[in-house]
Amino acid sequence: MAVKVAEEWLATCGGCEVTLLDLGEALLDLLPKLEFVHMPVIMDHKYYGQMGEREKLEIPEADVGLISGSVRNEENRHVAEEMRRKCKTLITVGACATYGGIPALNNLCTVADITKLVYQDTPSTDAAATPTQEIPALEERVYAVSEIVKVDIKLPGCPTTPELLAEALTCLLEGREFKLTERSVCDECPTKREKKAVTAIKRPLESVEFTPGQPLSEVRCFMEQGFLCQGPATMSGCGGSEKVTRCIKAYMPCRGCYGPIREGANPMVDMMGALSSIGLNPREIVDRAPTFNRFIGAQGRLKPGMGGR
Ligand code: SF4
Ligand code: SF4
Ligand code: SF4
Repeated sequence: MAVKVAEEWLATCGGCEVTLLDLGEALLDLLPKLEFVHMPVIMDHKYYGQMGEREKLEIPEADVGLISGSVRNEENRHVAEEMRRKCKTLITVGACATYGGIPALNNLCTVADITKLVYQDTPSTDAAATPTQEIPALEERVYAVSEIVKVDIKLPGCPTTPELLAEALTCLLEGREFKLTERSVCDECPTKREKKAVTAIKRPLESVEFTPGQPLSEVRCFMEQGFLCQGPATMSGCGGSEKVTRCIKAYMPCRGCYGPIREGANPMVDMMGALSSIGLNPREIVDRAPTFNRFIGAQGRLKPGMGGR
């Protein structure tokens, strides 16, 4: 019998849903074993019934629930709670659902600041009152899904990778335990390291020094070149079977979208230590908290007023 899957998106960009489609050939293997019973991005299914006849938000029962996106408003919270009630195993898909993701940069401001900026202070629109009817109220801050309901499997990445999603689904189908690596992006990185920076911290818009086609093993570590590469504090795995991670392979510094290497780690502290250890001064970075918590700002990592700390 096919495994029933329900998918939901909360505060999300839709990129993690594209990951599901990007499974490619793995999707062909998985599809006959899966039955999607709910997936708003591709299926019409009304929370309150096709004619709005139900009083309570309802999602069909499923063996596996996939959630992308963070919890930004009351509706997101109710959907996450209903998914937990109806799904035997709940999986967060991507950085937003797992760590708050880009939406959790909002946690640097209060809700009052955000609504004032959006409805009253935006130069290109006429000032208006904050709408209060027919739209869900914002939560006090942006939450990762696991702060609202129990989550069984957490898939990091912005977006997560098709290989990781396929592996999680295959483990469930075969009754195997799913485990994330505890290796860092640096652990898989072939660049040359001399443990000493050759320059001061550079602007992110400058390009890494390399010659097109040059093997990574001949290119100097990007952080030693002065770039904020978050490889030392970021979980590896985004490169799939190729090991070398997605951005490093493209001669781009890692921005940390896979999040901390292990539960409880503090990537900002780890990054400041890594920068200091090669002679770079982390205090030169103006927006340290949002820079090092760009994808992981829920779970109390970003708070109003933390911009430069
Ligand atoms: S993790 Fe990235 S790709 Fe996925 S929903 Fe969030 S912003 Fe989009
Ligand atoms: S800091 Fe970046 S470039 Fe340097 S070794 Fe780590 S992942 Fe590679
Ligand atoms: S290299 Fe870093 S930023 Fe790039 S995809 Fe992997 S974890 Fe994300």
